[in-house]
Amino acid sequence: MTTYVLFCPSCNKDSNFFSLVFDPMNSVPSSNVYIGGEGVRFDSILANYMQNKRGYHDLARCISCSSIYQIITNNIARTSNPKLVTDVWVSPTSLHVFVPEAVRKDWAEALTGYKKGMNNSAAAMFRRALERTCNIKGFNSGKLWEKVETMLAPFPSDLQEYADLIRWIGNDAAHPTDDISTDVPREEVEDLKDFFEILMENIFIRPERRKKLKEKHNQRKSSH
Ligand SMILES: [Zn+2]
Repeated sequence: MTTYVLFCPSCNKDSNFFSLVFDPMNSVPSSNVYIGGEGVRFDSILANYMQNKRGYHDLARCISCSSIYQIITNNIARTSNPKLVTDVWVSPTSLHVFVPEAVRKDWAEALTGYKKGMNNSAAAMFRRALERTCNIKGFNSGKLWEKVETMLAPFPSDLQEYADLIRWIGNDAAHPTDDISTDVPREEVEDLKDFFEILMENIFIRPERRKKLKEKHNQRKSSH
């Protein structure tokens, strides 16, 4: 049985981690596992391995708190110098499947920037993801403010305000002044992250959930 003795950031102490991937007796998780609070699919771990030959990757579970982390080691037997990988990217596959793939791609890039503390990058990407949302919804002519206004006209007015903040702060991020005092601060990106999620919930996720439930309901009624 492959185990690692490592410091666990979740329970804040040295702990044993059991391998989830390289022991035949432990099954490979097929759905999302949570690494550093983000859902990550096992196939994205493999993709990372393909891109990054610096080590051998594994997923392992802390026996003390059950948190799952990605592990990187120096040899194929996974015994040499294991380390926790804590610089995790956000994969588009970990985001809600009702959000169109092209939007998830930009959204994931924004979240990765956010997690890495790259505030200007994240803010600019949230603005880009907003514009892509408009384009995908068929609002693709005019300035971004016009697209957003038309797209969000049928929604409660606070959504328009969230979108405007993403637009304004994303613009600040994309158009620098000559000093860093106008750079986007951390706390503003934290708000953008939440506001973008609210937009996704209202524009894509809830309408699709309503539609799916109606379909199920109608099917059940018609089977009688
Ligand atoms: Zn732990």
